[in-house]
Amino acid sequence: MYSFQCDFFPDFNKANLMSYYDTLTNFLTALSRNGQIVNNHWNIVFNEAFFRLYCTAIDRDSLEPKYFNKCCHQYFSRLSKISKKRPEYRLNGEAFGLTCACSCADPSHYILFTTHVAEFPPVTCGDCHRPVPMYKLPKLDGDEDYFSLFQWEAEYQAFDSLFMLGDVGARLGYRQTAEADSRLTLKGINLCQQMTEKTGKPFYYFLRKYYTPPKSDCPLCGGNWVLDHKIHGLYAYKCDRCHLLSEKSS
Ligand SMILES: [Zn+2]
Ligand SMILES: [Zn+2]
Repeated sequence: MYSFQCDFFPDFNKANLMSYYDTLTNFLTALSRNGQIVNNHWNIVFNEAFFRLYCTAIDRDSLEPKYFNKCCHQYFSRLSKISKKRPEYRLNGEAFGLTCACSCADPSHYILFTTHVAEFPPVTCGDCHRPVPMYKLPKLDGDEDYFSLFQWEAEYQAFDSLFMLGDVGARLGYRQTAEADSRLTLKGINLCQQMTEKTGKPFYYFLRKYYTPPKSDCPLCGGNWVLDHKIHGLYAYKCDRCHLLSEKSS
């Protein structure tokens, strides 16, 4: 992850302070839904003549217009019409302690993966196990951006948080993230199947098993899915037929 600051220059002959701010935040929301900046990782300071944005993005070139979708272009165009000049971007440096993006030229497979504290997007490269910038992936049918994947991510994080808090919602959170037939799992597997079709690469789904180790047969097809060695220090079970992964807690 990288830290950026970006200055935006309002033309107060064409917009007042709040209408400019609203257009700017609409543009930033579009960037975040397109995976170009990290959601909830930005704030804006007004310095008399310009707005200064502080934000985090997954890669050095994440903010470049070549990755804009239709919505980003629309809001950027609206913003440009009420600005004195083009925004100025500055890369502050690598965000300490936050993971870097996958730079594999051609990942062989992907994993839909997140946790309750994840700062990274929900698709991980199966080869280097680093997060993949969403804007480099195809969109699902019916999605203008990556809404369906980000919605699954938000729901997973909510259930994972309930489990980690360990009180009133712990059982519900565990069941949704660990059981092969939970609504969250079925939704995630369905998204993986759609993404497999879109990318032509296998998309695996990760099934948590914090308490009870999975049985030696895959919960979907019944085939043996025990691995000889853990992959990426986490996955001890893998079914290539069902594109399913799981862990061993000890
Ligand atoms: Zn990679
Ligand atoms: Zn299977």
